[in-house]
Amino acid sequence: MTNNVMEREVVLWGMGHTNLHVARMWRQSPIPGARLTCVSNLPVSTYSGMLPGVLAGQYPRERMEIDLRRFCNAAGVRLILGDVTGLDLARRQLSFGDDPPLRFDVLSVGIGSVPSREGVEEVGDAILAMKPMPTFLDRLRQRLLDLRPTAAGGALRVAVVGGGAAGVEISFCVPPFVKRTFGDVPLQLSLIHDHGQLSAGSAATNDRIRTRLDSRGVRLRLGRRVTRVERDRVMLSTGECIEADLIIWATGATAAAVLGRLGLPTDDRGFLLTRPTLQTLADAPIFAVGDCGTIQESPTPKAGVYAVRQGPILWENVVRMLDGRPLRPYRPQTNFLRLMNTGDGQAIGENRAFTFEGRWCWRLKDRIDRRFMSQFTTTG
Ligand SMILES: Cc1cc2nc3c(=O)[nH]c(=O)nc-3n(C[C@H](O)[C@H](O)[C@H](O)COP(=O)(O)OP(=O)(O)OC[C@H]3O[C@@H](n4cnc5c(N)ncnc54)[C@H](O)[C@@H]3O)c2cc1C
Repeated sequence: MTNNVMEREVVLWGMGHTNLHVARMWRQSPIPGARLTCVSNLPVSTYSGMLPGVLAGQYPRERMEIDLRRFCNAAGVRLILGDVTGLDLARRQLSFGDDPPLRFDVLSVGIGSVPSREGVEEVGDAILAMKPMPTFLDRLRQRLLDLRPTAAGGALRVAVVGGGAAGVEISFCVPPFVKRTFGDVPLQLSLIHDHGQLSAGSAATNDRIRTRLDSRGVRLRLGRRVTRVERDRVMLSTGECIEADLIIWATGATAAAVLGRLGLPTDDRGFLLTRPTLQTLADAPIFAVGDCGTIQESPTPKAGVYAVRQGPILWENVVRMLDGRPLRPYRPQTNFLRLMNTGDGQAIGENRAFTFEGRWCWRLKDRIDRRFMSQFTTTG
């Protein structure tokens, strides 16, 4: 093998669903003459589909986590833990502040998204954001432990902000976590959402969710936008004030700030614009996948199911790009099965026009999620 061939560097920045698939494929059939490097800001990747189940006590924490050191080691690929600070398009390098840059021949950006805080004033660090997800459990536990003395007298007041699927699942599943950390303290949970209806599914699915949330005593505050968050209260656009000891932020996805520093074309939320092939619009061998990319011709909601389905296309297109062959388009599915964990051994789901709930939904979700994670936790 010549040095020339050995110089081909494939870099995966952010080890979310799509890039993980490429690393897994590399383990099975590494590309001759190329080297794969994974770049992550944290040593663990978290599977969001199982986070609610971990909160509810249905899974141990390790079940939703991929240990990137072990995974990359088993796949025979290099792992760099660090924070990317910029991109040099001309030199095809990622920069890491004062640390040496990383050259690439093909780059895939898959760093996910962050919950939107647009128009919200935060005093201090009152918000407990869902991202970074790998540190969410530790941050939640620490907040609860800090609160223990103040909450001793009365009820613990929790506000979840964001009425999409994530906020809904958190509202169902966080009470058992609080109970495990605190004991049997009375809990007052409010779910705040800026739209008049929940955004977790169809109208029929939202109705099912509302019925269940009502039966758990969750106070729904719909059609109210949060304008200001302080350590012990949330101010709403209606002028109302909700007192809260713990404020969990699960709003819609927006782009991580670093994407705006790359000099690549973005959409109005700051996500990297791509062609149907997942290649960014820039004239460069750079893909953007999962939440952090938006296909210009066919934008989809920011959901893990799309990130997962992009995996095989990304893998094929990385190989094709290295070979100089035309790339294949990714065609997003128009529908997908949604299953939301209600934390009590049941789930609410929808597929196309149908909405359903029950124990069988939870068992189906559990099977799908375990199967997904088994790809990354077993060797071979
Ligand atoms: C509680 C919750 C439940 C959800 N449940 C579902 C569900 O059931 N079904 C569904 O379809 N969607 C679900 N979602 C949405 C889903 O999590 C996202 O759409 C999905 O994770 C996007 O995948 P991704 O690979 O783009 O990003 P991610 O899964 O977020 O992965 C991005 C990775 O990049 C890393 N990273 C981030 N920033 C950097 C950086 N600067 N440098 C290096 N690495 C970085 C992160 O640590 C992470 O490992 C849920 C979201 C939440 C919050």
